Amino acid sequence: MDYKKETDMIIDDKRGVDYQTANQPLYYSTAFLRPSLDSEEGHLYVRHGNPNREKLEEKLARLEHGKFAFAFNSGMSAISAALMTFSPGDHIIMPNDMYGGTYQLVKTVLKRFGLEFTSVDQSDITNVIDTIKEDTKAIYMETPSNPTLQITDIKRMVEVARVRDIKVVVDNTFMTPLGQNPLLLGADMTIHSATKFLSGHSDLIAGAVIVNDPSISEQLQELQVAMGLGLGTYDCWMLNQHLKTLTLRWKQSTENTEKVHTFLKDHQSIAHVYYPIENEVHMSQATHAGAVISFKLAEENKAQSFADHLNIPLVSVSLGGVESILSHPETSSHKDLPEHERIEKGITKGLFRLSVGIENVEDLIDDFEQALKNM
Ligand SMILES: *Cc1c(COP(=O)(O)O)cnc(C)c1O
Repeated sequence: MDYKKETDMIIDDKRGVDYQTANQPLYYSTAFLRPSLDSEEGHLYVRHGNPNREKLEEKLARLEHGKFAFAFNSGMSAISAALMTFSPGDHIIMPNDMYGGTYQLVKTVLKRFGLEFTSVDQSDITNVIDTIKEDTKAIYMETPSNPTLQITDIKRMVEVARVRDIKVVVDNTFMTPLGQNPLLLGADMTIHSATKFLSGHSDLIAGAVIVNDPSISEQLQELQVAMGLGLGTYDCWMLNQHLKTLTLRWKQSTENTEKVHTFLKDHQSIAHVYYPIENEVHMSQATHAGAVISFKLAEENKAQSFADHLNIPLVSVSLGGVESILSHPETSSHKDLPEHERIEKGITKGLFRLSVGIENVEDLIDDFEQALKNM
C-alpha cells in the first residue's frame, strides 16, 4: 500500500508542520470554501465530489487498470448511469440470465425512455451475433453469470463488437478486480456492485463504473452529478477502508471455495456442482474460478431441511461478505421468472448458491457434511 496515495497531507499552520494520518480524514462537509469568487479549482459542492470520493475513485481506477472511476450510491445506480450513456432508439443486447435488479431496470424503467433491449444466452456467441442489428450500440455482459455461473468469452465479444462500433459493458461484480479485468480485455466499461466483495462486510451499499475513454467518462460524470448518483461521504470512506483487506479476503475466500468445491463435487447427496474451474474460456480471462459456487441437491425436496441444518452460512441473499452466504435462487433472486424459464436455466428447488466467506474452511465443510447427512 502506498500511504502517500492513501491519505492527505494536512497543513498545520499553528505548529508550522505538515503531517499525514493513517486513514484519510473524513470530510463531512457539503460545501467547500472558495479561495476567490471566480475560482473553479478544487471541490465546491458535495454532489459534485469531495476528497473522500475522489480518493476512492482513484483507487477503484487503479484496481481495474482503468483511467477513470466513478463511485455510485449502489450497484444499480452504477448500472443505471452506464446504460443511460446510451440514447433513445439505441439497441442493447443483454444476457438472458442477468441480475434480477438489472432485469427490472431495463424492463420497467429504461424501456420507457426509448432504449431497446434483447436478451440472449451469451455463453454461445453466435446468439449475440445473430441479434445484432443496425441500431445495436452495446453488448452488456455478466460472466460468470448468476446463479449457474455460465461463462461468456469477453475477448471474442470485444472482437465482435469493435468492428461494428458497439460498446462492451461488463458487470464484474462476481470476479472483483483481482479476479478479472474486463478493460484489459478490451471492454469499454466495467461495473461493480461494491456492496459485494469490494466492501466485503455486508454493511454498505455502493457501486462503481470504471472506463478508459474520456468521452464516456465525461458522460458518466455528468450523470453522477446531474442525477445525484454519487456515493455518500461516509460510505466512500468506509469502502476505502474495506478495500485495504480486499486482497486477503479474496485470497481466503477463493482458496476456501476450491476446497468446498472438492468436497461437494464427489458427494453422493449432490447432483450437480456449478463452478467454472474447468472452463477454459473462464480460466483464460480470469485469474481464478472465484468465490461463488452453486450446487444442486440430489433430493430436491430436502432443500428446506438442508438449510435448517446448517449453522455457519447465513441463509439469505447477497454475496461477497466475510461470512459465507447461502442463497436459494428459486425463492429469492429468481422467483419472478416464469417457471419454464427457471427450469430451463436449472433453477429448481434443490439449487443453492454459496458465496464462500473467510471462515476456517474445515469448520465450513464439517457443517455442510453434517447438514447433508442429517437433512
Ligand atoms: C448485487 C448485484 C447488483 C446490484 O447491486 P446493488 O449494490 O445491490 O445495487 C448488480 N449486479 C450483480 C451481479 C450483483 O450481484
